[in-house]
Amino acid sequence: IDSSDLFGSVFEAPPLVSVVPVLVPLPVPGPYSYAVPEGMHVEPGSVVQVPVGPRQHIGVVWDGVNDDKLDPKKLRSITLAFDCPPLSADMRGFIDWVATYTLSPPGLVARMAIRAPAALDPEPMVEGLHYLGGVPERLTPARAKVLELVANQPGPWTRMGLAHAAGVSASVVDGMTGKGMFDTVFLAPPPVVARPDPTYAVPRIEGPQKEAAAEIVEPVRAGGFSASLIDGVTGSGKTEVYFEAIAEALRQDKQVLILLPEIALTASFLERFQDRFGAKPAEWHSDLSPRMREKVWRGVVTGEVRVVAGARSALFLPFEELGLIIIDEEHDPAYKQEDRVFYNARDMAVVRARLGNFPIVLVSATPSVESQVNGLSGRYNTVHLPTRFGDAALPDLHLIDMRRHPPERGGFLSPLLLRQMAKTIEKGEQSLLFLNRRGYAPLTLCRVCGHRFQCPQCSSWLVEHRFRNQIQCHQCGYHQPTPEACPDCGTLDHLVACGPGVERIAEEVERHFPDARTIVMSSDMLGGVKRLRLELEAIANGDVDIVIGTQLVAKGHNFPLMTLVGIVDADLGLSNGDPRAAERTFQLLSQVTGRAGRTGRKSHGLIQTFQPLHPVMQAIVSGDAEAFYEREIEERQKAILPPFGRLASLIISADTRADAETHARGLRAAAPQVTGISVLGPAEAPLALVRGRHRFRLLVHGRRNSDMQAFLKAMISQGPKQRGSVQIQLDVDPQSF
Ligand code: ADP
Ligand code: ZN
Repeated sequence: IDSSDLFGSVFEAPPLVSVVPVLVPLPVPGPYSYAVPEGMHVEPGSVVQVPVGPRQHIGVVWDGVNDDKLDPKKLRSITLAFDCPPLSADMRGFIDWVATYTLSPPGLVARMAIRAPAALDPEPMVEGLHYLGGVPERLTPARAKVLELVANQPGPWTRMGLAHAAGVSASVVDGMTGKGMFDTVFLAPPPVVARPDPTYAVPRIEGPQKEAAAEIVEPVRAGGFSASLIDGVTGSGKTEVYFEAIAEALRQDKQVLILLPEIALTASFLERFQDRFGAKPAEWHSDLSPRMREKVWRGVVTGEVRVVAGARSALFLPFEELGLIIIDEEHDPAYKQEDRVFYNARDMAVVRARLGNFPIVLVSATPSVESQVNGLSGRYNTVHLPTRFGDAALPDLHLIDMRRHPPERGGFLSPLLLRQMAKTIEKGEQSLLFLNRRGYAPLTLCRVCGHRFQCPQCSSWLVEHRFRNQIQCHQCGYHQPTPEACPDCGTLDHLVACGPGVERIAEEVERHFPDARTIVMSSDMLGGVKRLRLELEAIANGDVDIVIGTQLVAKGHNFPLMTLVGIVDADLGLSNGDPRAAERTFQLLSQVTGRAGRTGRKSHGLIQTFQPLHPVMQAIVSGDAEAFYEREIEERQKAILPPFGRLASLIISADTRADAETHARGLRAAAPQVTGISVLGPAEAPLALVRGRHRFRLLVHGRRNSDMQAFLKAMISQGPKQRGSVQIQLDVDPQSF
């Protein structure tokens, strides 16, 4: 048969080829149009592959009308449509919203949400072993162990699972398999994660937690958008309270997202979750293997994964039916991303909940000024947990006035702190010395000529790291071996360390307590996250007497034996001219001292400061957070600073200082005249040189109701053309200003 006979009618009316907009993960202003090949089915949200220039990219079919004037024949076609559920309309709306608010290319926002699902091979079947009965001829003690086990539980077992459970090596199992003692069966691949069960364990809530939980659960039961804030001191049982909100969402068959600032290090959180729900949540953070990343992403899109605990980037996971977001430690600066798309995951999470019409719960011992104000205005429903759970008391906090109790020459620890550390060791308890500075010393110079070691590409000093025998730039990561001779005057053995880092404090501690088991915890630790997790476990098990750590140890951990926290330099964050400095310092100090005394032992916090009368220090020791926040809020209100006003920062950078400055001036000159909005600068950015790029900054300040985005857009489009190496980084709602 001639096929033209059969399909003749089709050839007369040309096949209907449609055109759809596709968002590609590139810094371009919007979606591109593509032709849909005949027979391919796509809809808004479909994940597809398309050609852009010479390369293939993953993209999402976007919303919007097709431009009829476009001729599909002249357009490039979608290469393939992936077999996975489309991104929901809510998710697409959220991506557009974030792009508009942060003034980022929508493709770069979408890039955080999509992956190439085809990259995932089907999960291999697992081979299982089933005991057939019988006893091997040669019954070694190891084989006897296996036998004893399978006699009661014939399986099927996985090879490693059986070896593990019997406490023998896998070769023992292999030997027995060779003797024909097991039947090989195929097991279905294990799910990404087991399903958390809201009825698995009874809720652990008592007394004030009950009331708090009732208030938090009610809006989840009711459904629809609402925002709640759990404001409770460290150890008050906030986690158990928000677990009840999660249980309610699970009962309603909704997916749940828990955001945590340091998820990679919070293994204990996952275990607590498992105790309550019988299964761990899926994790999402930068330390996941690519394969796990694929699995979790797919599980989230298909709905197989019900609960994700993740870092800020988890906010862009395209859940099938998200019904609740929890943000633990909502005040934490780690929620701000300052790279490519500048966004605050806490603020954007509230937006996502609003757009998706479901509840969100913010949690903190020291809520941000923004959230406090939202609580006061009634936008958030606040519940308070003012005391620790059970018989645990907050630590006794004291300031050490360093002018009156100075350390010995060359040291940084006051005799008062050292004495308390000695007592703590005597009792078999643990101390934590907190200093938010990695390395040995923040500044190193030559004792003969005064040469300072500066990064060749940044305006920052190189920091000596003795454990690694390196000097490092904390801006760009540049490092070199610690030089033996001064590069300027050639003197050998020349280095003088100025000021302390954690490594230097460790040296001082070892001088005073040579027999104590001491550990330095910072992100420099060799062995990465795995090693850090192990060390955190060792601390929790009481295998360490003294911990010297950066903020890495400040967050969320529960160390039962820790009864003393010493703050080495409480003034460290106060002097940088940032209006948020007081708030941040207060939050950090509360959080760090909150590591002490979580299991009912009497505990102490000693805070070394040169400014004992500073409002932050007074607020910390008086425990009167309310008065502190009242003042902060009042000052922000007076100066029309966030959340009473709006801010944006523009960093203009270029290969030469002149290019950066000229462009910044040009932008400033192009700023439209709008009442209520003013532009400050340009001035050299706080880091004037980073990775060889010179940086200037413009700050835009507006009243609360001003249209910041329209203003910034106008300024940039009317400003000088971006030429050569000039780049602009736009940060709406910057962290520091
Ligand atoms: P927060 O999140 O406020 O810091 P947690 O939820 O971690 O406080 O609780 C502090 C400690 O008290 C934890 O060890 C937790 O297991 C325990 N805890 C909290 N609530 C209960 C409860 N109702 N019953 C038993 N233990 C509890
Ligand atoms: Zn550098």
